[in-house]
Amino acid sequence: MNKSEYFSISFLKYMPGAFLNLLFLNMALIMRSLLLLCFSIFGYFSFAQNTTNVTPERCITGSVMDKFFKDHPLKKAAFDQRQIEFQKRYELVRRQHRGFPVQQRISTTITIPVVVHIVLSDPSIVTDDQVQSQIDVLNADYAGMNADSVKIPAAFKPVFGKGQLRFCLAQRTPQNNPTNGIIRLSSNTTSVPGEGDPVKHASQGGADVWDVTKYLNIWVCKMSNSTDLGYTFMPGLGIDPSELGFVNAYHAFGTTGTATAPFNKGRTATHEIGHYFNLQHIWGANSCDVSSCADSDNVDDTPNQDKCFFGIPAFPTTDACTTVSPGVMFMNFMDYTDDATMCLFTQGQADRMETALTSFPELIPLLSSDGCTPPALYSNDAEAQKAINPANNIIYCSGTFIPQLQIRNIASQPLNSVRLNVSIDNGAVTSSNINLSLPSLATTTLTGDAINITPGNHTIKMFTSLPNGVTDQRPENDTVSTIFSVIGTSAAPITEGFENNSFPPAGWGIGNNSDLVEYNPTRVANAAHSGTASLKFDNHNYQLFGKYALLSSPKINIPINADSVKITFWRAAAQATSNVADTLQILFSVDCGQTFISAYKKGGASLRTTETLTTSDYIPAANEWVADTADLTSYVAGKYDNLIVQFRNINGFGNNVYLDDINIKTITLPPVLKDKGYLLAPNPTAGNLILQHYPTASMLKGIAVYNSIGQLVWKDDYGKTPAMTSIHINLSNTAPGIYFVRLLYTNKVITEKILKIN
Ligand SMILES: [Zn+2]
Repeated sequence: MNKSEYFSISFLKYMPGAFLNLLFLNMALIMRSLLLLCFSIFGYFSFAQNTTNVTPERCITGSVMDKFFKDHPLKKAAFDQRQIEFQKRYELVRRQHRGFPVQQRISTTITIPVVVHIVLSDPSIVTDDQVQSQIDVLNADYAGMNADSVKIPAAFKPVFGKGQLRFCLAQRTPQNNPTNGIIRLSSNTTSVPGEGDPVKHASQGGADVWDVTKYLNIWVCKMSNSTDLGYTFMPGLGIDPSELGFVNAYHAFGTTGTATAPFNKGRTATHEIGHYFNLQHIWGANSCDVSSCADSDNVDDTPNQDKCFFGIPAFPTTDACTTVSPGVMFMNFMDYTDDATMCLFTQGQADRMETALTSFPELIPLLSSDGCTPPALYSNDAEAQKAINPANNIIYCSGTFIPQLQIRNIASQPLNSVRLNVSIDNGAVTSSNINLSLPSLATTTLTGDAINITPGNHTIKMFTSLPNGVTDQRPENDTVSTIFSVIGTSAAPITEGFENNSFPPAGWGIGNNSDLVEYNPTRVANAAHSGTASLKFDNHNYQLFGKYALLSSPKINIPINADSVKITFWRAAAQATSNVADTLQILFSVDCGQTFISAYKKGGASLRTTETLTTSDYIPAANEWVADTADLTSYVAGKYDNLIVQFRNINGFGNNVYLDDINIKTITLPPVLKDKGYLLAPNPTAGNLILQHYPTASMLKGIAVYNSIGQLVWKDDYGKTPAMTSIHINLSNTAPGIYFVRLLYTNKVITEKILKIN
């Protein structure tokens, strides 16, 4: 609050228990309202004007709001207007505490259902106990029951707020399935604060929001800037609901486990939920380093405060806005001090949060959420959760496959038998009756009977029925459907330029190891090395850090006596920023996809084909295609007669990778070449004569071709440049007849007779 307000509160404070002069108070409140309205109109909520960075900043809600208003200038005015209307309503509520009853205040305890999305490479490091420790802190802090409230200075005790908000871990999912309110997602995705934060979106490797009208969403994760502890969006922004909730750094969450001092008392969440329910920082809406006594938190019982405080200040501390003891309230949850220093909300803040809950359209529905109540369990209810096989949407060279489905027994009693039904391409249903012993709420994987499949693209539907031999009481959660491809067989060489509309090309397969089938590579017609189309790995729209998408060749029959196996292809790739990069890997399998061996791996500077950093959806220009080769000869040639080649795009938060004109070829040399060490062919020749050597032509120093009367017609020498293993001798402009080809080696001379025809 600002200075003049504080004087009137001080006046109240020094009449404890006394009969209040109601008329005087009423006038004082009206004056305060007018004052606050003035400040609101003249940019009280002007985050946008204060962008100076401060370090460390334990909450970056301010700069996130700043950025939002910069990106959506029209929403700023609407936000300010909502805040002005809110302030009027809030002050009516505050009046109730002075004996003027109104109907707009929460009069009973309200419990907010919370879902905690733990998004970490190893999310198990944040245990259920750690999550519960955070819920316990919230319930103590919001009730004013926190043990460290004994540290509240005597001068501030009269305004200590004991509010009505409580928190529970969600007991039912948005689909009305039972849950413990804790979601764990293994992902390397970190929070990038602001709109479109990857940690809040499955397409970016995060966890999608749960219905914000029923739940308060918390994402516990690593921050892209490790000194940040958390942020939220305040109400009234008109922001997409998928962005609502707050992000909490995993090392500043709860009181145990990964929580690390001095942020291990759970106060980051206490603070961020304050913002979620429309509290400003205690010094106001400005950045914490902006000096202003006019900048207020619009709460009448907090002392006017200039800037934020860090660490463990000594009490009393005064500043430019509150110059006399007891000074500023640096121990308030909405300051920046250490967790162990913070210990209170004021009554004005508690009223403000509760009024927000009854005022903002996006918050009001929380009042009637059933998220804290477990759903009634049925006696027989098996839930299909996800397909385990086909894995990664692809099956390698098999005429059959074994379907596997992950299920959960949502019923109140054990599941002793269930039927697994599988239909490929909406065809006949294959059913397997499975006996098991699955306790209530437990999860398992069902394995069905082998099913015949053909190469190509397929849909698969797997569904459960007859749990414990009776009708499933909730059929709507019984089915999982997805797509997959089965690779075919082809003889070498195979070429693919992605010109045909059907994709993946006949015999080829696509897939990925995230849970998003949309992340599979696609055929695009807006970029090509040759023709009009190419293959795109989309790392721009799907930033699934560490996850890969793949293109698989058919199983290739290669001659067992092949002398070389090579892959040539064209690639195009860009980086979004210099410090993040995707990877292209080429792997092969000779055991039908059970194991893969890497034969090629490029990333960053060695993968990109343009030096221009591109943050938009990259489309290569014609001159941004680069030819490349992967040589499998040493791994495969002469050893195996079948081969699967996989192009694997590993997501690194970069940009798109394109492939075109793939050619997988084998070469089997003529036996005579291997016997003699060289071969001149064809003979007779029409003019295009090829001289090959095996294994090398390193001893060859020169070639001279003479006609039948001894005239030299063609020559080359290799004194300086070593000869290639394959040399083209062009006799197309010579007359038909007999020719003599002299091959000069370091240790011998060989002459071959050739017949030129035509
Ligand atoms: Zn904050």
